[in-house]
Amino acid sequence: MEKLEEKKAYIYIALAFIFSVLVRLIWVYQFKDVGSFMWNGQFMINTNDGYFWAEGARDLLSGVHQPHDLSPVGTAASQLTFILAKILPFSFESIIFYMPSLISSLLVIPMVLIAKSLGRIEFGFIAALLASIAWSYYNRTMVGYYDTDMLNIVFPTFMLWALVSAFRINEDKYILFAGLEIVAYRWWYPQSYSLEFAFFGLILLYALVYNRKNIYYYKLLAMMLFAMMGLPDLVRLAAVIIVYVLYKSKKLDTYMYYVLGFAIILFLFTGGFNPIWGQLKGYVFKDSIKVTKDALSLHFFSVMQTVREAGKIPFETFANRISGHTITFILSIVGYILMVFRYRVMLLGLPMLGLGFLAYVGGLRFTIYAVPICAFGISYLLFFISDYLKKFLVEGKSNLYIRTIFILLGTFAFLYPNIKHVIGYKVPTVFSKQEVSVLDKLKHIAKREDYVISWWDYGFPIRYYADVKTLGDGGKHTGEDNFPLSYMLTSPQLEASKLARLDVEYTEKDFKIIDENLEKSADKQVKLQPTIAQMTLDYGFKDTNDFLIALKTDIKLPKKTRDIYFYLPFRMMNIFPTVAMFSNLDLMSGNTIRRPFFYKTNRFREKNGIINLANGVYFNQKKGLIKIGKQEVPVRNFYITVYDKNKKFIRQRKVFNEKANISIIYMKSYNTFLVLDNAMLNSLYIQLFVFDNYDKNILAPVILNPSVKVYKLKI
Ligand code: MN
Repeated sequence: MEKLEEKKAYIYIALAFIFSVLVRLIWVYQFKDVGSFMWNGQFMINTNDGYFWAEGARDLLSGVHQPHDLSPVGTAASQLTFILAKILPFSFESIIFYMPSLISSLLVIPMVLIAKSLGRIEFGFIAALLASIAWSYYNRTMVGYYDTDMLNIVFPTFMLWALVSAFRINEDKYILFAGLEIVAYRWWYPQSYSLEFAFFGLILLYALVYNRKNIYYYKLLAMMLFAMMGLPDLVRLAAVIIVYVLYKSKKLDTYMYYVLGFAIILFLFTGGFNPIWGQLKGYVFKDSIKVTKDALSLHFFSVMQTVREAGKIPFETFANRISGHTITFILSIVGYILMVFRYRVMLLGLPMLGLGFLAYVGGLRFTIYAVPICAFGISYLLFFISDYLKKFLVEGKSNLYIRTIFILLGTFAFLYPNIKHVIGYKVPTVFSKQEVSVLDKLKHIAKREDYVISWWDYGFPIRYYADVKTLGDGGKHTGEDNFPLSYMLTSPQLEASKLARLDVEYTEKDFKIIDENLEKSADKQVKLQPTIAQMTLDYGFKDTNDFLIALKTDIKLPKKTRDIYFYLPFRMMNIFPTVAMFSNLDLMSGNTIRRPFFYKTNRFREKNGIINLANGVYFNQKKGLIKIGKQEVPVRNFYITVYDKNKKFIRQRKVFNEKANISIIYMKSYNTFLVLDNAMLNSLYIQLFVFDNYDKNILAPVILNPSVKVYKLKI
């Protein structure tokens, strides 16, 4: 009997796994002919953060990386990728592209196994089908979504399986699995502690209230504490194995209270609670040493002001993300409640369900945690109704057929909205082939210690493809980090270039100061003031605004230690107003100082000399006037830029009114109109990208591609 069950489990796992992977290949099928999504004969990834892990894996493969290049060689995601790239015969690009789809599909294993523990494998199989491709789970684990999400649900579901099995059959091996699970999960995702603590709390409650005499639960709790101590991964792994061997030999059984007491003390003294305290206090626990004597207190723009994700989400979105449909979601909750009546042990699913429900207030990214539990709920409901039907149907073979058909139809109905979502979810790759070809060229021009300056959104891919250093990326983009980048991209070339040299040299100098101080006291955290504050003081100012004005004058720049490049992509045109926001404020007071005007459109129509630029913007070509909403103002210049047949860049200019503030640019080759004020017109980005108009004394073009332009700093 047990053998047969095992065989069935293998078959169901294999089927569900294949299903999960096949659904993920729909994207591949849809885009198989889109050449701009490919690089090196493979699709590129579609999540920005993925380039972070990819950089770490690339450096692990090459065996070297540069000090302070921010390459995450120590992270689990990079290490796992490195191992897979070492042992598998596929290209690195193929591995990072397909890895999420294959690894995330492993979710079906614990799901089938949980149902096996409960004694009804089929119900796990249906749940596995639903969970593996449920809306939000799919979004975060599709092909090319190369991020830690690929294992973030697999691990806790394995944890749930180990705990459910431990409760059903009090065997030592499940205690071992639980311990190993925690170590692996924490290695992969350091923030995993919240779920671990929640599981621990539930078990503790159960042991204290319902089962005080059973020493098995004390063993389990002690093991969890050993696995969650504040010690390195390998130490905890060793501890878990040693504790298991001791449990197995039954040597500890009579001292279990002492063992549990010891585990608690060890847990507390090694800082097992630190992640929680850290979360509560909102900063790292190390004391910080002050390196600078004077400090300027500056006010930066907060990124939260531009992030829209936070804030309440509609119930329908929330339900769709978890189950694919509002009705499915409600039924899944009903099913979960029924399931808990039948199998009390499934109450252990509450931490995951709870974390998933946090999405309702805390942001969409949490919904994936509720996916497996709700899939169990829905599947259980189907079997519950099917069992109920049994009573009403005539006995015999047809009875079974009818119930099977009912379950299959139900499954199909619940899968349908999710598969429909998959088909419609046509996510593009992060970069286009053209952009990557520019970075690939740059890789052979720039040295690894050189800096490439761009907006932070492009930091990770720039570092991955060109192997250089950057000032901002997906992990370094606070108001303080973004201010200099924003200032450079939106200011005239001279000030921008000087600030670029200053910020790069100050950033490297800061790394040195941090290293030197850490040598003296390794346990401390070194906190330096923003580079811009240090510059202000070093140049003898007390007000950062005065320092920024001084950039126009002949100030002495620090010694040049490396080359600096500006990476200016066309795609930044879409977010240029956001880029500008980060430097539109007076750092001393935090007040907004200028409101730049920048409008971009590719929807336009001409009629009787008036060009309708959409959104209530009209350009009267004859009179040289522009109407924006109700306001009509004179136009300064009208530019037309175009690449001719020989790919030569041509620029035409028509002057309307030299005193006016608004200009219009028609980028013919891009099918794009820009309406912008003088400040934006004179910005480094617009002058260099739109007009190829660079100051020959301070900048030199390196790569001029229609989708990206790269300039090198001469100062
Ligand atoms: Mn590097």
